[in-house]
Amino acid sequence: MQDKFIPLENYLKYSGNWLDEFFTDQKKKWNLLSKNTVVLRSQDEKHVKIGKNNFIISHNPNRTASTMAQVDEKSVGARKCFLCENNLYPEQTGVLLDDYIILCNPFPITEMHFTIANKRHIPQKFNIKDFISLIKIFPEEHAVFYNGPKCGASAPDHLHFQSVPKSKLMLIEFADNLEKSSEQIEIVTDAFPNFIFVESKSAAIAEKSIAELIKSVKKYFQLETEPMINVLGWKNKNRYKLILILRKKHRPDIFFDEKKGMKISPASADLAGLIVTIDADDFNRANLNSTKQIIEEVTINGSELTTIMKYYNSKN
Ligand SMILES: [Zn+2]
Repeated sequence: MQDKFIPLENYLKYSGNWLDEFFTDQKKKWNLLSKNTVVLRSQDEKHVKIGKNNFIISHNPNRTASTMAQVDEKSVGARKCFLCENNLYPEQTGVLLDDYIILCNPFPITEMHFTIANKRHIPQKFNIKDFISLIKIFPEEHAVFYNGPKCGASAPDHLHFQSVPKSKLMLIEFADNLEKSSEQIEIVTDAFPNFIFVESKSAAIAEKSIAELIKSVKKYFQLETEPMINVLGWKNKNRYKLILILRKKHRPDIFFDEKKGMKISPASADLAGLIVTIDADDFNRANLNSTKQIIEEVTINGSELTTIMKYYNSKN
């Protein structure tokens, strides 16, 4: 493990920008990563605006395995887990951080797309403490995100987070510009999609707020397991900011439509402004209406979110 994975402290000793350095090292040694990073730069993109929010629709065939991932127990059990240490690419190295290994994603949605995999093969389940620790350690330019096991994660059997530059996720820019005067949790229903926003100068308060919120949502829906969630988090001028998006569906109906369908399987990044299409025809047909329809179908609407927040406020 020593040679393949480098403790974060070693990077920090020599470089202020450990993430850049790690990414550059990997690109030099790993053809697949450097090739797919170059491909990204010439991929087709188009832009749509829904209400106040901007979306990039990208054509990224390299994401086929992720978009089409079968996440039922049988299919997951039958394949090799691509996040387990033994199954990594020979050229792949990682940065060690406590219980996690930070890895470059060889099929990126943006340049510098990282997967942060737990060292153990344990199921995908949101761990707020670990999530906040990652926000602390990642550079301010990067957002960290979590996709629930039925909310876009293609490895529901292996606990992991991801990170991309926040400049690519325009819902983050929108949230960053919200005028927030207190440490209160807020629902933002004039955004698309609607979300719950937590902001605090204290990592501990942000952690506690999200933990209580998720507990409350679980109770509201009377669930045994984690509610369907996508979570995005970042730092800005030493303030911790988190977006919680509540879901009601894993994939939209259009995903399963054999004739007029579109292979779009929304996860955190798609909902935050970077829609990934894998098929050229889907890319050509994707527009404002399809984006709106897909996101509305998989997320909880503003009035239900308001009811959930009322429930949360009555219990806290
Ligand atoms: Zn695994």
